[in-house]
Amino acid sequence: MNKNDLFELTITDMGTGGEGIGKYEGMTFFVRDAVISDVILARAIKLKKNYGYARVEKILIPSPDRIEPECPQHRRCGGCQMQALSYEKQLEYKENKIKNALMRIGGFPEEELDAVMEPVVGMEHPYRYRNKAQYPVGYDRDGNVVTGFYAARTHCIIPVEDCLLGVEENKEILAVIRGWMEEYGIPPYDERTGDGMVRHILIRYGFTTKEIMVCLVVNADRLPAAQELTGRLQKIPGMTSISINVNMENTNVILGKRTECLWGQPYITDYIHLRKTGAPQEFELTDTAVAYHISPQSFYQVNPLQTEKLYSIALEYAGLTGKESVWDLYCGIGTISLFLSQRAKQVYGVEIVPQAVEDARENARLNGITNAEFFAGKAEEVLPEFYANSGGAFAEGDGTGMECSETDSETREADRADMRHPDVIVVDPPRKGCDMACLLTMLKMQPERIVYVSCDPATLARDLRVLCDGGYEVKKGRGVDLFGMTGHVETVVLIQRKDT
Ligand code: SAH
Repeated sequence: MNKNDLFELTITDMGTGGEGIGKYEGMTFFVRDAVISDVILARAIKLKKNYGYARVEKILIPSPDRIEPECPQHRRCGGCQMQALSYEKQLEYKENKIKNALMRIGGFPEEELDAVMEPVVGMEHPYRYRNKAQYPVGYDRDGNVVTGFYAARTHCIIPVEDCLLGVEENKEILAVIRGWMEEYGIPPYDERTGDGMVRHILIRYGFTTKEIMVCLVVNADRLPAAQELTGRLQKIPGMTSISINVNMENTNVILGKRTECLWGQPYITDYIHLRKTGAPQEFELTDTAVAYHISPQSFYQVNPLQTEKLYSIALEYAGLTGKESVWDLYCGIGTISLFLSQRAKQVYGVEIVPQAVEDARENARLNGITNAEFFAGKAEEVLPEFYANSGGAFAEGDGTGMECSETDSETREADRADMRHPDVIVVDPPRKGCDMACLLTMLKMQPERIVYVSCDPATLARDLRVLCDGGYEVKKGRGVDLFGMTGHVETVVLIQRKDT
């Protein structure tokens, strides 16, 4: 076989990124935009020893699960991988993806998993679910300013006026910014030369409050014609926060360190756990609703409706009665922590981004929550350091040098003991999973239950193996689809100490 050869291929499986997989003459081929059970005419685009990459030249026999994608750009854009597969089958794919990772990477036997895994939680409407969009900015061939998405595996911008995963409001915001750039001669950033100014446009939308945040990521200390821009953007209903984020580095990382608010508040507010009324996207407050302030740099789940389901499962798995002390590692702006704190005695959150920790503390105040405390730092450092330093007697004081009465110090000692041996630990790490130092300290702390919320089944499986070898067993697990049309899936797993 040579590059560019055409051959017939039957798609028999789908990979972890949502790509089709088929075998031809002993070689495994990975094919974007092909779905399971398609028979295609494939064109080889890259060949390795035992495997290769191919393109769909023509669909010879479409899979019975193939549907017409809604977005005209789906084949060019790198954002979605599974639009051509029926949503039902996407969910089946995600359930299998979790199970396969737990079996192959975690070494958990299939029967054990079948006994504990619950069916994946799908979306009612798998489009227009994202509350956040990050559009790169560039020029097209004719020198017009374009906003859009990167083509799959490249940095070429495909103009996309209206991504169907995002909210409709994005379209007008982008048009205003492009118009302002053209009028005032503000150039897009050029990755190759490092020249130009506007790199990305970050938009966030509060689904329950309808508040909008716009943040321009710029390769400059300040923005020229800023008032002209904010004047126009302010007119868009719901506009609440307009800021710039300074990123002058030659990097793929979107956000730089410094954000400056140009107009309005430096954050938007959103709620989790509101009661939905009959009308679409209309909500009312409940007793357990939590309000969150979200800054441009802070992590906030992109799919608020499914996030609520995800957190409700995490809360159910945590099995709280009001007496427990709980660590929430990788806590972001305290989303899960504040949810948990309503049912726990005390929650301790740990998060690496200082701005997010400030948001978390502010969010606790905003909701009148006094039993949640937040620590800034890496989970793999904060937890082991706390554990190492909290072992002795505390009667001599806590190192702060503050005078306190005997009763105070007794209370503090009891608190420390609770923190050292919590009832529950919740973790929600980024894709790379938990650091070994973090996992080992968790094992030393011997919580009765650990709830692992994960955005990557592979690292979830790896980490669960470490925890289960350390004396825990999987009790329950469930996938939640937060990212319809893409190959990603969230998973929540409850593990419990074997001797409890
Ligand atoms: N639980 C939160 C955030 C989950 S995303 C929520 O549901 O909204 C993962 C979070 O982990 C991010 O906020 C990220 O900034 C943080 N993070 C990444 N590496 C970390 C580390 N080593 N220690 C602590 N937090 C980390």
